[in-house]
Amino acid sequence: MKKVIVFTTGGTIAMKYDEARGGLVPAVSGEDLAAAVPGLGSLARVEVREFSNVASCNMSPQKMFELSLQIESALADSEVAGAVITHGTDTLEETAYFLDLLHGSDKPVCVVGAMRGASDTSPDGPANIYCAVQTAASENARGKGVLVVLNNVIHAAGQVRKTHSANCATFESPWWGPLGYCDQDRVIFRRAPVGRQVFHPRALTARVDLIPAQTGLGPEYIDFALSRGCQGIVIEGYGRGNIPPALEDGIARAAAQGVAVVIATRAFAGRPYETYAYPGSVGDSKKHGAVRGGEASGAKTRLKLMIVLSERPELARDPAALEKVMDS
Ligand code: ASP
Repeated sequence: MKKVIVFTTGGTIAMKYDEARGGLVPAVSGEDLAAAVPGLGSLARVEVREFSNVASCNMSPQKMFELSLQIESALADSEVAGAVITHGTDTLEETAYFLDLLHGSDKPVCVVGAMRGASDTSPDGPANIYCAVQTAASENARGKGVLVVLNNVIHAAGQVRKTHSANCATFESPWWGPLGYCDQDRVIFRRAPVGRQVFHPRALTARVDLIPAQTGLGPEYIDFALSRGCQGIVIEGYGRGNIPPALEDGIARAAAQGVAVVIATRAFAGRPYETYAYPGSVGDSKKHGAVRGGEASGAKTRLKLMIVLSERPELARDPAALEKVMDS
């Protein structure tokens, strides 16, 4: 029987209602999480490793990097078929994408969470863990990178978004749709992720800040980011990546200091592009020293830029080469 390692990090999936505090709080150990899933032992030999037990607002890029090291070292064991990561859904898509960018092996890594706590009348955690282990142990899931598995549906880490604050069907891949689904007897894929990129930074050294475009905004957040000593800034623009024109001076100051500025879009899909030539357009931002990112959200683009600049810091001063990596 295949062996699957389950890394637990926390999230609603491991929370219970606390009478005194009046809400859900971390309460369930990794072992107890797995023990609450009927039939798990028939899917795989499951070994649980508790990485943390926190709400996912406590996740940080450094913790994601540490988690990735632990996952990749577990997968190096020839006995291990795949890994499952339990995680809070709030930042799940960020951790999944971060892990995907560092995941070079063919073995499946499935990130899973739950929208209802373990003490809820009808918790979704046990069924979600079941599906995640089923997917991690499936031959069909090999070579597809890091997958997000919730509500019986399987998504690519690079395309998935949390779309509803409370509904169990919250995870969607806008415009692309899921890769597949878990059925009772097997895992079924109908497409595979295309164009994944894998990086190999030795450590996560680059600091990158994310600034969402806001109507009427000036360059002050860019100047603040520069004052904090960041190596990169991602600006999440509108539509094709357009931003308030007053940010352009800040972009020029960042570029002059060798700080990479990448434009993303807040649209659910599509790329930023130099379609326009007015002040604040991507064409204008590029003239001031920015480069465009690809289809990833601002939050995901920030993590990617951290990884890219950690591996190749010289790209901060090479806009053409940086754009090639970021927009692919
Ligand atoms: N607030 C929770 C978290 O991200 C939400 C969840 O797990 O569903 O930790």
